[in-house]
Amino acid sequence: MLKISQIFGPTVQGEGSAAGRHCVFIRTFDCNLECTWCDTAYTWAVTDEKAAKTLSGHRYERNDPAYGEKLMEPDEVINRLRKCWDVENEPTIIVVSGGDPLIQQRELVPVLERLHAWGNKIHVETAGTIPLVPEFDACVTQYNLSPKLANSGNRLSKRYKQKVLSALNATGKAWFKFVITKDIETDLAEVDQIVADIGVPRRRVMVMPEGSDARTNIETAQQMVDAALERGYGLSFRTHVLLWNDDPDR
Ligand code: SF4
Repeated sequence: MLKISQIFGPTVQGEGSAAGRHCVFIRTFDCNLECTWCDTAYTWAVTDEKAAKTLSGHRYERNDPAYGEKLMEPDEVINRLRKCWDVENEPTIIVVSGGDPLIQQRELVPVLERLHAWGNKIHVETAGTIPLVPEFDACVTQYNLSPKLANSGNRLSKRYKQKVLSALNATGKAWFKFVITKDIETDLAEVDQIVADIGVPRRRVMVMPEGSDARTNIETAQQMVDAALERGYGLSFRTHVLLWNDDPDR
């Protein structure tokens, strides 16, 4: 059984190197990190203790019918995707996000194998703290890898797993994406260190402004873009925020 929060689309990929492209989303339930600014905290902040880790302090309901945990067999996931888009005959990008979908790699394999066989491209969003399972990796077209910085509020030993990141980088399928807050120089210095430690090609690195409203996104992007470009990094907006103000169904 898979633990699913949402299946929705068609929409646009909001972030990273495929931003703006047509896709359908599978959002898995559960995360092993607790980022203070997480924009999908409904996938994990379902206890008072976890809710206290977020900036809002809001505790979500695990059994919320829209965004909470739904247990699904692989066939049900496929059927729900089909209601969004004809994934069998009109292949598109399937964004597998969370939470962190790497928690459920083995459970996802039967779903991803079918989607892959129909010609869909599988793009996986992950913070890169959980080792890859080969059968899962075989289905994946691209990793949108977002290692978390100190600004996330997670302790270093939990958020930074150098061996896992190196293995993901070695697949040749990873694009790195870092969330930058208003403390731009501190955050970029940490990005530089990770990029050097892992040996990430700089052309595969994008930085992205934190913020769940369009004004904050644009202002932070304007402040950091030159420093990012000088380093050889690209810039990602959060397209869905600019278009829909972080509506969780888009
Ligand atoms: S890793 Fe992603 S889903 Fe998990 S808490 Fe951080 S931002 Fe949220």
